[in-house]
Amino acid sequence: MLSRKQLQRYSRQIMLPQIGEAGQEKLAAARVLIVGLGGLGSPAALYLAAAGIGELHLVDGDRVEISNLQRQVLYKTNHRDKHKAQVAAQQLTAANPEIRVHAHCVMADEAWLSTQLSRQSFDLVLDCTDNLNIRHTINRVCRERQVPVVMASVRGFSGQLVSFDFRTNTSPCYACLFPPATGQSDLPEAENCSTVGVIGPALGMMGSAQALEAIKFIAGLPVSSLNKLQLFEAATLEWRALALPANSTCPICR
Ligand SMILES: [Zn+2]
Repeated sequence: MLSRKQLQRYSRQIMLPQIGEAGQEKLAAARVLIVGLGGLGSPAALYLAAAGIGELHLVDGDRVEISNLQRQVLYKTNHRDKHKAQVAAQQLTAANPEIRVHAHCVMADEAWLSTQLSRQSFDLVLDCTDNLNIRHTINRVCRERQVPVVMASVRGFSGQLVSFDFRTNTSPCYACLFPPATGQSDLPEAENCSTVGVIGPALGMMGSAQALEAIKFIAGLPVSSLNKLQLFEAATLEWRALALPANSTCPICR
């Protein structure tokens, strides 16, 4: 049952037939883990907090740098050198004091993720990282723990979005799409924003899209990126969708 304050705060989305009071109650009961609080995690977390996701867990071991501010809209210049997860939690709590926000100032790795996902039940994980190794780790751990995941990434002007519902045994996974490199020596040089550059609003689009998919997922609406690679090209404003090819040789899920 929603309180009067909740009915007021979320009135504009409750009036949508796709959400309604029932959908808002689902959002309020949801627990979501956001890994990475940079250019994707900033808009994703802001929108999920504003929408009234009941409990948000924010994970990032980094501190705010001036070069982050071109795209990481959670942070202001005076946040320099502060822990991103802590600043983010303060900002989200200020935006919406009705929800519970937990800051984790750690770099998520396999052991940490595994512990978190076994300690309490998460409805969804958002992968907002910019690193292929941790993406594969999130894919593995979420699949193992049967927690659905919404993943996004941006290189330059090009964005990708894909979701998996690992509660379904037959779900494909990220490694079906992009098999992990075998052996450390085969790994390509770490590619991320600091090495290839990125346009800020493209991250805003993709992070917002992650929040959108998360809300749809939790409210029980069709999720357009489920088992589908959604590609966004910021240079031309074009979206393309690729059905996920079945990969019977996936080392993770087959
Ligand atoms: Zn797979």
